[in-house]
Amino acid sequence: MRVVASAYSAAEKAAAIVRNVMATGDLGIVEKTGANDLQTKADRLVQMSVCASLAQKFPKVTIIGEELVIWVDPLDGTKEYTEGLLDHVTILIGIAYGGKAIAGVINQPYYNYEAGPDAVLGRTIWGVLGIGAFGIQLTEAPAGKHIIITTRSHSSALVNECISALNPDSVIRVGGAGNKIIQLIEGKASAYIFASPGCKKWDTCAPEAILHAVGGKITDIHGNSFQYNKEVKHMNSAGVLAALRNYDYYASRIPNTVKQSLVP
Ligand code: AMP
Ligand code: MG
Ligand code: MG
Repeated sequence: MRVVASAYSAAEKAAAIVRNVMATGDLGIVEKTGANDLQTKADRLVQMSVCASLAQKFPKVTIIGEELVIWVDPLDGTKEYTEGLLDHVTILIGIAYGGKAIAGVINQPYYNYEAGPDAVLGRTIWGVLGIGAFGIQLTEAPAGKHIIITTRSHSSALVNECISALNPDSVIRVGGAGNKIIQLIEGKASAYIFASPGCKKWDTCAPEAILHAVGGKITDIHGNSFQYNKEVKHMNSAGVLAALRNYDYYASRIPNTVKQSLVP
Protein backbone atom coordinates (compact mmCIF):
# COMPACT_ATOMS: atom_id res chain seq x y z
CA MET A 1 0.00 0.00 0.00
CA ARG A 2 2.93 2.40 0.60
CA VAL A 3 4.13 1.81 -2.97
CA VAL A 4 0.60 2.37 -4.33
CA ALA A 5 0.29 5.62 -2.33
CA SER A 6 3.63 6.85 -3.69
CA ALA A 7 2.66 5.85 -7.22
CA TYR A 8 -0.58 7.83 -6.79
CA SER A 9 1.24 11.06 -5.92
CA ALA A 10 3.94 10.41 -8.54
CA ALA A 11 1.18 10.06 -11.17
CA GLU A 12 -0.45 13.35 -10.12
CA LYS A 13 2.89 15.16 -10.37
CA ALA A 14 3.35 13.53 -13.78
CA ALA A 15 -0.05 14.74 -14.97
CA ALA A 16 0.95 18.34 -14.22
CA ILE A 17 4.13 17.86 -16.29
CA VAL A 18 2.11 16.42 -19.20
CA ARG A 19 -0.20 19.46 -19.14
CA ASN A 20 2.70 21.94 -18.76
CA VAL A 21 4.65 20.57 -21.73
CA MET A 22 1.53 20.79 -23.91
CA ALA A 23 0.92 24.36 -22.71
CA THR A 24 4.43 25.46 -23.81
CA GLY A 25 3.54 24.46 -27.37
CA ASP A 26 6.92 22.75 -27.86
CA LEU A 27 6.52 18.98 -27.59
CA GLY A 28 10.10 18.11 -28.61
CA ILE A 29 8.98 15.06 -30.61
CA VAL A 30 11.53 12.39 -31.60
CA GLU A 31 10.87 9.14 -33.47
CA LYS A 32 12.07 6.09 -31.51
CA THR A 33 12.04 2.91 -33.63
CA GLY A 34 10.19 4.14 -36.70
CA ALA A 35 6.89 5.58 -37.74
CA ASN A 36 4.27 5.89 -35.02
CA ASP A 37 6.67 5.21 -32.15
CA LEU A 38 7.08 8.70 -30.78
CA GLN A 39 8.63 10.27 -27.71
CA THR A 40 8.00 13.81 -26.49
CA LYS A 41 9.54 16.05 -23.86
CA ALA A 42 6.60 15.00 -21.63
CA ASP A 43 7.59 11.30 -21.93
CA ARG A 44 11.18 12.14 -20.94
CA LEU A 45 10.33 14.47 -18.04
CA VAL A 46 7.67 12.15 -16.59
CA GLN A 47 10.01 9.16 -16.84
CA MET A 48 12.58 11.06 -14.77
CA SER A 49 10.05 12.46 -12.32
CA VAL A 50 8.25 9.18 -11.59
CA CYS A 51 11.45 7.17 -11.31
CA ALA A 52 13.13 9.82 -9.12
CA SER A 53 10.25 10.14 -6.68
CA LEU A 54 9.75 6.38 -6.35
CA ALA A 55 13.48 5.72 -6.10
CA GLN A 56 13.78 8.34 -3.34
CA LYS A 57 11.15 6.62 -1.21
CA PHE A 58 12.10 3.08 -2.18
CA PRO A 59 15.85 2.98 -2.87
CA LYS A 60 15.57 -0.51 -4.33
CA VAL A 61 12.52 0.44 -6.35
CA THR A 62 13.00 -1.82 -9.37
CA ILE A 63 13.20 -4.90 -7.25
CA ILE A 64 12.50 -5.23 -3.56
CA GLY A 65 13.31 -8.62 -2.13
CA GLU A 66 13.88 -9.81 -5.72
CA GLU A 67 10.17 -9.87 -6.37
CA LEU A 68 8.62 -6.40 -6.61
CA VAL A 69 8.94 -4.76 -10.03
CA ILE A 70 7.39 -1.44 -11.05
CA TRP A 71 6.51 -0.93 -14.73
CA VAL A 72 6.18 2.73 -15.75
CA ASP A 73 4.78 4.13 -18.97
CA PRO A 74 5.45 7.86 -18.55
CA LEU A 75 3.02 8.71 -21.34
CA ASP A 76 0.74 6.12 -22.92
CA GLY A 77 -0.81 7.31 -26.16
CA THR A 78 2.10 9.57 -27.14
CA LYS A 79 1.00 9.56 -30.79
CA GLU A 80 -2.41 10.92 -29.77
CA TYR A 81 -0.76 13.44 -27.38
CA THR A 82 1.15 14.90 -30.35
CA GLU A 83 -2.07 15.11 -32.36
CA GLY A 84 -4.14 16.88 -29.70
CA LEU A 85 -6.34 13.88 -28.80
CA LEU A 86 -5.64 14.70 -25.20
CA ASP A 87 -8.14 12.48 -23.38
CA HIS A 88 -6.48 9.36 -24.90
CA VAL A 89 -3.34 10.03 -22.88
CA THR A 90 -2.53 8.33 -19.56
CA ILE A 91 0.38 7.79 -17.17
CA LEU A 92 0.71 4.15 -16.13
CA ILE A 93 2.44 2.85 -13.00
CA GLY A 94 2.05 -0.90 -12.54
CA ILE A 95 3.26 -2.93 -9.57
CA ALA A 96 4.10 -6.60 -10.02
CA TYR A 97 4.87 -9.12 -7.30
CA GLY A 98 6.22 -12.56 -8.11
CA GLY A 99 5.69 -11.83 -11.82
CA LYS A 100 2.02 -10.98 -11.39
CA ALA A 101 0.39 -7.53 -11.80
CA ILE A 102 -1.03 -6.82 -8.31
CA ALA A 103 -1.64 -3.08 -8.24
CA GLY A 104 -1.80 -0.18 -10.63
CA VAL A 105 -2.28 3.55 -10.94
CA ILE A 106 -3.62 5.21 -14.11
CA ASN A 107 -3.66 9.00 -14.30
CA GLN A 108 -5.63 10.58 -17.12
CA PRO A 109 -4.28 14.17 -17.18
CA TYR A 110 -6.92 15.53 -19.57
CA TYR A 111 -10.01 13.77 -18.24
CA ASN A 112 -12.87 16.30 -18.56
CA TYR A 113 -10.99 18.54 -21.02
CA GLU A 114 -14.04 19.03 -23.20
CA ALA A 115 -16.22 20.10 -20.26
CA GLY A 116 -15.30 23.78 -20.50
CA PRO A 117 -12.77 26.09 -18.83
CA ASP A 118 -14.18 25.66 -15.31
CA ALA A 119 -13.94 21.86 -15.31
CA VAL A 120 -11.34 20.22 -13.08
CA LEU A 121 -8.82 18.53 -15.38
CA GLY A 122 -7.57 15.02 -14.80
CA ARG A 123 -8.24 12.03 -12.58
CA THR A 124 -6.25 9.29 -10.87
CA ILE A 125 -7.56 5.74 -10.93
CA TRP A 126 -5.95 3.09 -8.75
CA GLY A 127 -6.59 -0.51 -7.95
CA VAL A 128 -5.22 -3.40 -5.95
CA LEU A 129 -5.95 -7.05 -6.66
CA GLY A 130 -8.31 -8.41 -4.01
CA ILE A 131 -9.33 -4.90 -2.91
CA GLY A 132 -10.88 -3.20 -5.95
CA ALA A 133 -10.47 -0.09 -8.08
CA PHE A 134 -11.08 3.51 -7.06
CA GLY A 135 -11.48 6.81 -8.89
CA ILE A 136 -13.63 5.18 -11.55
CA GLN A 137 -17.29 4.13 -11.69
CA LEU A 138 -17.76 0.59 -13.00
CA THR A 139 -20.48 0.63 -15.67
CA GLU A 140 -21.79 -2.32 -17.68
CA ALA A 141 -21.46 -2.18 -21.49
CA PRO A 142 -24.72 -2.42 -23.49
CA ALA A 143 -26.06 -5.98 -23.05
CA GLY A 144 -25.96 -8.26 -26.09
CA LYS A 145 -23.75 -5.87 -28.10
CA HIS A 146 -20.19 -6.58 -29.18
CA ILE A 147 -18.38 -3.27 -29.15
CA ILE A 148 -14.70 -3.76 -29.94
CA ILE A 149 -12.10 -1.18 -28.92
CA THR A 150 -8.70 -1.23 -30.60
CA THR A 151 -5.69 0.77 -31.78
CA ARG A 152 -6.10 4.02 -33.65
CA SER A 153 -2.56 4.50 -34.93
CA HIS A 154 -1.03 0.97 -35.05
CA SER A 155 -3.51 -0.91 -37.23
CA SER A 156 -2.55 -3.69 -39.62
CA ALA A 157 -4.28 -6.17 -41.92
CA LEU A 158 -4.12 -8.76 -39.12
CA VAL A 159 -5.59 -6.37 -36.53
CA ASN A 160 -8.55 -5.74 -38.84
CA GLU A 161 -8.93 -9.38 -39.91
CA CYS A 162 -9.22 -10.39 -36.27
CA ILE A 163 -11.82 -7.73 -35.51
CA SER A 164 -13.95 -8.65 -38.57
CA ALA A 165 -13.94 -12.30 -37.50
CA LEU A 166 -15.72 -11.25 -34.29
CA ASN A 167 -18.68 -9.72 -36.18
CA PRO A 168 -18.69 -6.60 -34.02
CA ASP A 169 -21.70 -4.31 -33.72
CA SER A 170 -19.25 -1.40 -33.71
CA VAL A 171 -15.51 -0.68 -33.52
CA ILE A 172 -13.95 2.15 -31.50
CA ARG A 173 -10.43 3.18 -32.53
CA VAL A 174 -8.59 5.13 -29.83
CA GLY A 175 -5.02 5.54 -28.60
CA GLY A 176 -3.45 4.12 -25.47
CA ALA A 177 -3.67 0.83 -23.62
CA GLY A 178 -4.63 2.67 -20.42
CA ASN A 179 -7.41 4.55 -22.18
CA LYS A 180 -8.85 1.36 -23.65
CA ILE A 181 -8.99 -0.39 -20.28
CA ILE A 182 -10.70 2.67 -18.77
CA GLN A 183 -13.33 2.47 -21.53
CA LEU A 184 -13.93 -1.24 -20.79
CA ILE A 185 -14.49 -0.48 -17.10
CA GLU A 186 -16.79 2.44 -17.94
CA GLY A 187 -18.88 0.27 -20.27
CA LYS A 188 -18.07 2.15 -23.48
CA ALA A 189 -16.70 -1.02 -25.09
CA SER A 190 -17.09 -4.75 -24.49
CA ALA A 191 -13.65 -6.06 -25.56
CA TYR A 192 -10.17 -4.68 -26.29
CA ILE A 193 -8.54 -6.62 -29.10
CA PHE A 194 -5.12 -5.93 -30.61
CA ALA A 195 -3.82 -8.77 -32.81
CA SER A 196 -0.33 -7.36 -33.27
CA PRO A 197 2.97 -7.05 -31.47
CA GLY A 198 3.84 -3.50 -30.36
CA CYS A 199 2.27 -3.20 -26.94
CA LYS A 200 4.80 -3.55 -24.05
CA LYS A 201 4.71 -4.77 -20.46
CA TRP A 202 4.61 -1.18 -19.19
CA ASP A 203 1.44 -0.67 -21.29
CA THR A 204 -0.39 -3.62 -19.75
CA CYS A 205 0.84 -3.92 -16.13
CA ALA A 206 -1.16 -1.11 -14.45
CA PRO A 207 -4.24 -1.62 -16.67
CA GLU A 208 -4.14 -5.38 -15.98
CA ALA A 209 -4.02 -4.92 -12.19
CA ILE A 210 -6.96 -2.50 -12.27
CA LEU A 211 -9.04 -4.59 -14.70
CA HIS A 212 -8.40 -7.77 -12.68
CA ALA A 213 -9.24 -5.90 -9.45
CA VAL A 214 -12.77 -5.31 -10.82
CA GLY A 215 -13.25 -8.85 -12.14
CA GLY A 216 -12.17 -8.44 -15.78
CA LYS A 217 -9.53 -10.40 -17.66
CA ILE A 218 -6.60 -9.53 -19.95
CA THR A 219 -4.28 -11.94 -21.77
CA ASP A 220 -2.50 -12.26 -25.09
CA ILE A 221 -4.67 -13.42 -28.00
CA HIS A 222 -3.84 -17.08 -27.22
CA GLY A 223 -5.23 -16.69 -23.71
CA ASN A 224 -1.82 -16.73 -22.00
CA SER A 225 -1.52 -14.44 -18.99
CA PHE A 226 1.20 -11.81 -18.98
CA GLN A 227 4.23 -12.17 -16.71
CA TYR A 228 5.88 -9.11 -15.18
CA ASN A 229 9.07 -10.39 -13.55
CA LYS A 230 12.21 -8.40 -14.35
CA GLU A 231 13.61 -10.95 -16.82
CA VAL A 232 10.48 -11.03 -18.99
CA LYS A 233 10.54 -9.88 -22.62
CA HIS A 234 9.19 -6.32 -22.80
CA MET A 235 7.16 -6.83 -25.97
CA ASN A 236 3.70 -8.40 -25.79
CA SER A 237 4.44 -10.21 -29.06
CA ALA A 238 1.15 -12.12 -29.16
CA GLY A 239 -1.13 -9.10 -28.87
CA VAL A 240 -3.79 -8.22 -26.32
CA LEU A 241 -7.31 -9.48 -25.56
CA ALA A 242 -9.24 -7.94 -22.65
CA ALA A 243 -12.82 -7.75 -21.42
CA LEU A 244 -14.65 -6.80 -18.24
CA ARG A 245 -17.32 -9.46 -18.92
CA ASN A 246 -17.64 -12.42 -21.34
CA TYR A 247 -13.89 -12.73 -21.91
CA ASP A 248 -14.43 -16.39 -22.95
CA TYR A 249 -16.82 -15.40 -25.73
CA TYR A 250 -14.16 -13.20 -27.40
CA ALA A 251 -11.30 -15.63 -26.71
CA SER A 252 -13.19 -18.48 -28.35
CA ARG A 253 -13.72 -16.46 -31.54
CA ILE A 254 -10.13 -15.46 -32.31
CA PRO A 255 -9.39 -17.17 -35.66
CA ASN A 256 -6.64 -19.81 -35.75
CA THR A 257 -5.02 -18.03 -38.70
CA VAL A 258 -4.59 -14.96 -36.50
CA LYS A 259 -3.19 -17.04 -33.62
CA GLN A 260 -0.68 -18.72 -35.95
CA SER A 261 0.62 -15.31 -37.04
CA LEU A 262 1.34 -14.15 -33.48
CA VAL A 263 3.99 -16.14 -31.65
CA PRO A 264 4.17 -15.39 -27.88
P1 AMP B 1 -2.27 1.85 -29.31
O1 AMP B 1 -3.49 1.06 -29.04
O2 AMP B 1 -1.89 1.87 -30.76
O3 AMP B 1 -2.34 3.21 -28.72
O4 AMP B 1 -1.09 1.07 -28.59
C1 AMP B 1 -1.05 0.87 -27.19
C2 AMP B 1 0.38 0.99 -26.72
O5 AMP B 1 1.21 0.06 -27.43
C3 AMP B 1 0.99 2.36 -26.97
O6 AMP B 1 1.89 2.64 -25.93
C4 AMP B 1 1.76 2.19 -28.25
O7 AMP B 1 2.87 3.05 -28.31
C5 AMP B 1 2.21 0.72 -28.17
N1 AMP B 1 2.26 0.16 -29.53
C6 AMP B 1 1.32 -0.59 -30.13
N2 AMP B 1 1.69 -0.92 -31.40
C7 AMP B 1 2.89 -0.37 -31.60
C8 AMP B 1 3.80 -0.34 -32.68
N3 AMP B 1 3.53 -0.98 -33.83
N4 AMP B 1 4.96 0.34 -32.53
C9 AMP B 1 5.23 0.98 -31.37
N5 AMP B 1 4.41 1.00 -30.30
C10 AMP B 1 3.26 0.35 -30.39
MG1 MG C 1 2.24 3.10 -24.00
MG1 MG D 1 4.67 5.60 -23.69
